[in-house]
Amino acid sequence: MATDQPAWQVWHDEGEPIRVGVSSCLLGRKVRYDGGHKHDRYLTDVLGEWFEWVSVCPEVEIGLGTPRPTIRLEGSAAAPRLVEPGSGEDLTERMRSYSERRVGELRGLELDGYVLKRSSPSCGMERVKVWSRGGMPEKSGVGIFAAVLLERCPSLPVEEEGRLNDPVLRENFIERVFASHRWRSLRRAGLTRARLIAFHTAHKMLLRTHNEAGYRRMGALVASFGRRPDGEVFAEYEESFFDILARRATPKRHVNVLQHAVGYLREAVDDGDRRELLALIEDYGKGLVPLIVPITMLRHHVRRHDIDYLSGQLYLEPHPKELMLRNRV
Ligand code: SF4
Repeated sequence: MATDQPAWQVWHDEGEPIRVGVSSCLLGRKVRYDGGHKHDRYLTDVLGEWFEWVSVCPEVEIGLGTPRPTIRLEGSAAAPRLVEPGSGEDLTERMRSYSERRVGELRGLELDGYVLKRSSPSCGMERVKVWSRGGMPEKSGVGIFAAVLLERCPSLPVEEEGRLNDPVLRENFIERVFASHRWRSLRRAGLTRARLIAFHTAHKMLLRTHNEAGYRRMGALVASFGRRPDGEVFAEYEESFFDILARRATPKRHVNVLQHAVGYLREAVDDGDRRELLALIEDYGKGLVPLIVPITMLRHHVRRHDIDYLSGQLYLEPHPKELMLRNRV
């Protein structure tokens, strides 16, 4: 039965915050080497309405003052050292052992995502400058703290603030954060075969937009209940779920999934309305209208005609409309 409740809210545990780690300087804290910050208004003013930030500044937390001499990555991208070039002090082991401990604590907080400061030798997720002796720096490194975070939390949705300016990456990251929160809510309620099947059913269209082959593998995985230990299926499902959602959904896949959804309207919607919806999907595929346009029309028909299977699909509204994430993709 279709309800007026947005799809994302059906699986959302209102009693639990969406907890997201963040490099402190992005919240406007004056923790940078120069005593300044890198306040990102989108994080504080928009996402701050929905997320509870867990602020971490690795350099301050290992005891470096503010302001402080600059530090940088040196050596090779595969095994960089964190060095203060002025004094030659090597901070690698100090930062690494701190990061292991701190990431362990953060895992205990059950984060749903993490936003890192780009280019930082501590927080940068990719393309951080690595200086080799006497040569020019290469943008090929990962910050020491970020590397530990990524290694220890492979399913955690992680992005840099700069990449979040890209509407596609932004939508994907926030979609994954809300999906992570739903998954944790499910775990807290207690994983059972029936609950996992219902969870998977609600995510089918969403998963298909990210990776069709992965979606099919997950279907086979869920169908393997009874032939494999439940715990094994749950663990594999969790890994695959986040792996698939991390793959970028493309307009072509959205078009395929939307066209497939129109098939469910066949009995309820007349030819004219169906043609109108198919034309909007085509317009979206050509880049003439944003994704929100065909989705809004599809949602309208689903609600009006009470199309049971589609009304439960997270794909129709995987995150709050107030974030307007699908207006620009
Ligand atoms: S980038 Fe990371 S280490 Fe540097 S000031 Fe920001 S939070 Fe601190």
